[in-house]
Parts: sequence; C-alpha cells; structure tokens
Amino acid sequence: MERTLIGELGSYAGRAVSISGWVDVRRDQGKMVFFDFRDRSGLVQGVVLPGSSAMEAAKDIRNEYVVRVEGTVNKRPEKNVQPGRQNGDIELEVKSIEVLNPSDAMPFDISGDTGGIDESVRAEYRYLDLRSNRMQKNMRVRSEFVRRCREYLFSKQFIEIETPLLTESTPEGSRDFVVPSRLHPGSFYALPQSPQQYKQLLMTAGFERYFQIARAVRDEDLRADRGFEHSQVDLEMSFVTMEDVMAAVEDMMTTVVEAMGYSIKEKPFPRISYKDAMEKYGADKFDMRTPEEKEKGVLAYAWVVNFPFFEKTDEGGWTFTHNPFSMPIPEHLEWLMKGERIGEILTTQYDLVCNGFESGGGSIRAHKPGILEAAYKAMGFSAEELEERVGHMLKAFRYGTPPHGGIALGIERNVMNLTGETYLREVQAFPMTRGGQTAVMKAPKPLTDKQLKELGLKVDKK
Ligand code: ASP
Repeated sequence: MERTLIGELGSYAGRAVSISGWVDVRRDQGKMVFFDFRDRSGLVQGVVLPGSSAMEAAKDIRNEYVVRVEGTVNKRPEKNVQPGRQNGDIELEVKSIEVLNPSDAMPFDISGDTGGIDESVRAEYRYLDLRSNRMQKNMRVRSEFVRRCREYLFSKQFIEIETPLLTESTPEGSRDFVVPSRLHPGSFYALPQSPQQYKQLLMTAGFERYFQIARAVRDEDLRADRGFEHSQVDLEMSFVTMEDVMAAVEDMMTTVVEAMGYSIKEKPFPRISYKDAMEKYGADKFDMRTPEEKEKGVLAYAWVVNFPFFEKTDEGGWTFTHNPFSMPIPEHLEWLMKGERIGEILTTQYDLVCNGFESGGGSIRAHKPGILEAAYKAMGFSAEELEERVGHMLKAFRYGTPPHGGIALGIERNVMNLTGETYLREVQAFPMTRGGQTAVMKAPKPLTDKQLKELGLKVDKK
C-alpha cells in the first residue's frame, strides 16, 4: 500500500492506510498498546487492540523505532476527541507493524524542549536533538524565511550568483579563517568574511541586481548571537541611493514576515540617527516593543543611519566603524576627499535593527577609485599598502563601475527574532559549541604528518 502522510490522515476516516515514521511515544496498557506515530507532517495516535496480530510486535517496539504501520483510520467517539490537537478526532487502529529500523535508548529526552540539556551532549547527538519539536519548527521557519526572501528577490529581477569560498583575506574587521595551499606551500587562502568585494565586482560586471544566500566565516569570540559561521541574505544593486536600498529591503522584509503571519510594530520602519539612538537607548541595537508586544511576538524594525565613518584606534589613528568600502553621506564627501574632519564624517551605512538585534546592515559604496583611496588614506594606508589591499578594486572602478550599494541580512538573527530564540545555535542545524567544537564530528583536529608535509607546514606544538 502507498504511504500516506500522517498530517493527511484526517481525510481518510474509515479507510485502510499505510504510514511510515517514528514511534514518538508508546504506552503499554497491558491489553492494549497505544502509540503516537510521527512523521514530518505530524503526529497521530495508534492503538493495538486485544487480539490484534500486531500485538506481539507492539510489545517489543520502543520509542524512536522507525516503523511502517498498516491500519484503519477510525473516527474517535465524541468523548475521546481531543480538540485543538492534530488528528485529535481520529485514531489509527493498527493491523500490522513492520520495524524498518530499531533505535537504541535515546541519550536524552527529545519529547520536550532540549534547550536545557548539556551543550556538548546535544552537539554530539545533534541529529537526535533536531528531531525535537522545537528544533524541527526552527529549521522550518528558517527555510521558509530564506525561501520567501529568494522568491521576493527573483520577483524583483535579482539574480542569484555564488562567489568563491577560497579567497583572499579581506579587510572586513574580523580575524580570518585561513586555508593552506598545497600548490603554493606557505601561502594561504582566507574564507570569506562576506562576499563584499565580489558583489561589488558583480556591479562592475553589469548584473545590476545580485543576491546570494551567502556563508560568512569570521574568527570572532563566540557569543550567544555570534558563531564562527553565519549565513546572510546578501544583495547589491546598481544605480541606487540609500533610500532605494532601504525601501527595497523594507518591502522585502515586510512582504516576507507578514506572509509568515507575523505583525510589524510600525510601518514604514522608523528611522533614527546613530547619535539619537545612543542618547535614547545607549546602544545602536534596541528593542522598542512593549511587554505585551514581546508576548505576542511582534517585530519592531527600525533603521539606524548617520553612523560615523571612522573611529579612533588604540594607536591614535583611524579605522572604519562598519565598512571601508562605503561612501560618506554626500554632504561629507568633500571632507573625506580633502582628508579633513575625519572624525566628523558620517557614512551612508544603514543598519536594520529588530527586537534588540542587528537584523542587517549595508551602505552605498565608494564606486570611484579616488573615493576609496581617500578612505584608505584617512586610515593611514601608504600608497603601497593601498595597492596591496584594494588595488584590484581600484582597478575595477576605472572601468565604468556604476554607483551601487547593498546590504546583508543575517539569517540567524532574523530567524531568532521570528522564533523567539535567544541563542544562535537554536536556529542553525549543526552549530559549534561555545568552545569552537563542531557538532557530531570532531573538528578542529590535528592533520597527519603526511598532510602537513604536503602543505609545507610545521606545527609549533605549544
Ligand atoms: N559586507 C557587509 C557585512 O557582511 C554587508 C554589506 O555592507 O553589504 O556586514
């Protein structure tokens, strides 16, 4: 018999069906054995009646066994209906159970919220943790968020382009993860901290509207909302102003989250300058929700603009606050070009905040070589250092690069807001532990002597 999904059993009353899935719970009441069976579409109660030929099998089966079950869908008598519960008005009268694969006893209980279970145990058995209801929901919310963003961007003529994972170290502000080269011993690739430079080069290449669901890898101190790896809805547009990019992103976010059933506190999204945000909230990420709105899962978006372009380094020089490739606001371009009033220059950076998190950030870029040069000069780069760092960008900008700007939205942080989770690891399938250990598999780990030799590496064992 063909498989029927559990979620569809409601329309099969009185009929014989075959389902496949996991034993969620088994309750042995002696004469009768009750089950909850689970598949990707939900749960249904099954009952093995006295005298059933399935009784012997039912006695041996344990939680999390994978089974194929044949039986009849019966309407429950009125008094046994469980309103509000999926399939609460039906029951599967089990005629036969085939064990497709048994299961060892679970290392921890997955029937409830697994958030309190020891982190390293959850990581080791992440594939079991992911079976729990909350993790299934979180992964599905994430998938839906990404799918809807993609669909929106396709509908606005964006095209999806992948950029390299093995790339050059970029000045994005964090430490790089590096990959040794076998062909060039002693030389290293860096994993991308973001596709920033490639997406700008795609504007030079004339695509005008690019997006990518991009991985960004940064060797940063791990925090609740920060891991080594995260994903971004990364986009870039040509012939646009700040207003254009912000309007496009605002429309995308509104379309996506409202279609997912969420409500937004204020539309259009309020805007606040960095200075006012610091005065009002003491931070550039803030939560504008009332306690009731928090309760209801309302999304309170706001744009933060007018950030300073540069900040002082410990050594007394200047460094960028957000993105070295940004353009100053038009009123301050002249100061940058003259190398004046560096600390007062504001950038075209726009950050989208939501419920206390940074949901995204981007800017209009310097698209002329002279402007990018001036930004690097303000940060004290010599002509040679400038050439070494961004010579390839300066070169590209000499070949008709259009004005452009973009943004990256952090997928994890947005999904945290949608699900109400406070830890990044709750919205990633295979996150790292706080100690930087991979889930299930055991990285990082030493290379063999043969691998080291091939890569021309010697390890200084501290
Ligand atoms: N590259 C920036 C980031 O990853 C985003 C952007 O400016 O588009 O934060």
